[in-house]
Amino acid sequence: MPPLPDDPIDALLSAHGLRRTSAARLVLGWLLAHPDTSYTHAQLQMALQDDQTEALDRVTLYRLIDRLTQVGLLLCRVDARRVRRYQAMPASVHATPHFECQSCHRDSPLSGALQASSRDLEKAAQTAIEALKALGYTGLSMDVALRGVCSDCASGTTETAA
Ligand SMILES: [Zn+2]
Repeated sequence: MPPLPDDPIDALLSAHGLRRTSAARLVLGWLLAHPDTSYTHAQLQMALQDDQTEALDRVTLYRLIDRLTQVGLLLCRVDARRVRRYQAMPASVHATPHFECQSCHRDSPLSGALQASSRDLEKAAQTAIEALKALGYTGLSMDVALRGVCSDCASGTTETAA
């Protein structure tokens, strides 16, 4: 009998049929540790470089992100500029409403700002997911994105993001 991996990240990788490489551990571990932010390929590469002494090459990182997304460990969103952003798949919440600012391009979770409406949105998402599950659909997730100009940008207090 093969030994069970005790590291939760190893366990996730194994459960999704992925090799437990140090690169896979690094990327998934890092995104799981930053669950509220979504990153572009480039942002992720920069963040990992800051954290790590051994650099992860671009091609390896891109392939890894694709694989992790295919197996449902990462959530991929395409923002208003058609740029792909990735974050760890939220485990308990099926639809985390988030806000994309069209001016500074920050992407932030909205649960605090929406308060009760956020729970209603989650409930609606859950209902829709359950209905599709009953019809035999699998691997379901939902994305709720609101777009506009954030209050910082609207009031002119934000520096323009590069
Ligand atoms: Zn903004």
